[in-house]
Amino acid sequence: LAGRGFRPEGTVVKFANGVTVGGGEVVVMGGPCSVESRDQIFRSAALVKAAGGQFLRGGAFKPRSSPYSFQGMGLEGLKLLREVGDATGLLIISEVMEISQIELMLPYVDVFQVGARNMQNFNLLRELGQVRKAIVLKRGMSATIEELLLSAEYILAGGNYDLMLCERGIRTFETATRNTMDISAIPVIHKLSHLPILGDPSHGAGRRDIVPALAKAAVAAGADGLLIEMHPNPDKAISDGAQSLFPEQFEKLLEEIRLLAPAI
Ligand code: PEP
Ligand code: MN
Repeated sequence: LAGRGFRPEGTVVKFANGVTVGGGEVVVMGGPCSVESRDQIFRSAALVKAAGGQFLRGGAFKPRSSPYSFQGMGLEGLKLLREVGDATGLLIISEVMEISQIELMLPYVDVFQVGARNMQNFNLLRELGQVRKAIVLKRGMSATIEELLLSAEYILAGGNYDLMLCERGIRTFETATRNTMDISAIPVIHKLSHLPILGDPSHGAGRRDIVPALAKAAVAAGADGLLIEMHPNPDKAISDGAQSLFPEQFEKLLEEIRLLAPAI
């Protein structure tokens, strides 16, 4: 079902406000790694909106490598996301980590994000196949492109075709970057599949200084959109501050992306 031959014309994911992903326009999903406070998420949303982004990202449930790290604001964070989404017109994307969170999150998000660590949580994927809401499925940090497409198959098999894939960097022997952004995955996936593919240069790089270069490389390689971490005050971010762009960097990057992909 994920194969290009199934839908040679390509999948376009459409949202109620007219935003489309996969239809030729490059969309930007920007925002902090985690929702940290009302003030932080409202300021982030205003910045994303002003810079021309279409989606606000922010984790309410955080899949942290250490169980002792901040785990997210939970339901309170989801409520803040919905409130700021309604106030700004930005679509909301947030990560779902387990089946029990699906019901809880449904009223608050426009897109469910499946994180790299859950790419092969097949029970979660099956449940998301039953949901009538868009999904971003991130590539696992040690997953092949074929494994990513097989995971997509679990969601499509349930009848949910509002699916976008996301390249967020993979584990390699290189230590200069947190992960290695696999730019080739973008054109390869476009050849193999009809599904839109996003690039996440923030988790790909792990350091903000090279996020703009990787973002532009992803767009040049044909990405249908970008997931970018930005924080009103990255030095104070509770998670992923080192890879979060400063507001002015984010704004400048979106301007540069518009030059590469004039449709946005
Ligand atoms: C995130 O988007 O904040 C995140 C945790 O991403 P990943 O699942 O790619 O690590
Ligand atoms: Mn993050």
